Amino acid sequence: MSASELPAILGGPPIRPDGPPSWPIDDTAVREALARMADDGAWGRYHGPHCRRLQEALRERHECEHAILCSSGTAAVELALRGLKVGAGDEVILAAYDFKANFTNVLTLGATPVLVDIRADDWQLDVEQVAGALSGRTAAVIASHLHGKIVDMSRLRAVCDEHGVPIIEDACQAQGATIHGRPPGMWGHVGVLSFGGSKLLTAGRGGAILTRRDDVAQRIKLYTQRGNDAYPLSEMQAAVLLPQLEALPERQERRKTSVAQLREMLAQREPGAPELIHALNSPQRDGCDPAYYKLAFRCDGARIEGLTRDRIAEAIRAEGIALDPGFRALHFIHSRRRFRAAGELPIADETDRQALVLHHPVLLGEAADLRQIVAAVDKIERHATMLVPPNE
Ligand SMILES: *Cc1c(COP(=O)(O)O)cnc(C)c1O
Repeated sequence: MSASELPAILGGPPIRPDGPPSWPIDDTAVREALARMADDGAWGRYHGPHCRRLQEALRERHECEHAILCSSGTAAVELALRGLKVGAGDEVILAAYDFKANFTNVLTLGATPVLVDIRADDWQLDVEQVAGALSGRTAAVIASHLHGKIVDMSRLRAVCDEHGVPIIEDACQAQGATIHGRPPGMWGHVGVLSFGGSKLLTAGRGGAILTRRDDVAQRIKLYTQRGNDAYPLSEMQAAVLLPQLEALPERQERRKTSVAQLREMLAQREPGAPELIHALNSPQRDGCDPAYYKLAFRCDGARIEGLTRDRIAEAIRAEGIALDPGFRALHFIHSRRRFRAAGELPIADETDRQALVLHHPVLLGEAADLRQIVAAVDKIERHATMLVPPNE
């Protein structure tokens, strides 16, 4: 075997020597917004038209009375919980495989996270297990759309409405998605968005809370307004978000096309390599068009003795491809004393070991960028046995 064919992690040349594409992209409309701010001084003001326009745009887009801008998605989840009066002694149901800060936010309020397993086919909250997790103390359910898939919101709504339990819909990873023609965020009672640095709409930091409930909005305002906004989103942030919101439908289409192409390319690979990496290919839920902040893959590296998902991820990273281990399952990173598990969590266990997630910027690239992902997967699979660390 010539050195030129070797995986980069073993000394061969990487497939993408310059690494994955960066984020955010160079966006003329954002540059113009920044230049206008330098001229008119909006960047230095507490209040102004950009935040008002962003609120207006979100209210219209999500068909809700209240769009409260705030400093991050994490703050948005905390404020959503506070708005629903979640406090000491309460329980909040969420998926055992969810964003870490959602769990921490529940603890911050003195409430107990109740973990429910995820579905084997799409790794989303298993809505059928939510009814069994309810108790007299359940104050809310958090449902996050993750990894290019969508939670079954109609079914969740039916279960929660029956028991009078409010839903926080975490749409931080789902900007651009649609559920029966409408964006995620308002399928529950309170929606949360993130404008963090890696997200599909980014201002480096930032978030928003959406709701139709006046009491929830009122409570959030009381908590955040201390003579000044304690969790603000700035004029500067709002100004760079507005043009991105406008470009979102077009970018969503491009990402969606790329995902379809990538799946097709992966399906047409020459047989021969031990197939260790698979896109999570469950069919999309009826009437749902997910967004692609991260695209989920299942990695079965442990099928080869001595090999792990993490070693494979390291090797793919070395090729310049942003296909990384997913986050940890919540019950593995928190003490048992901190939460209640509603039953066994076998799928979250397995996902903790197997998830690989592709970061989205490459999905705005060309077919050649997608072919490089397939080439990296191919190369790593073909050299899988060589990747086993010696004497382990
Ligand atoms: C990013 C993210 C958050 C938190 O957003 P930040 O703005 O980074 O604080 C919450 N939930 C999910 C699912 C996320 O992906």
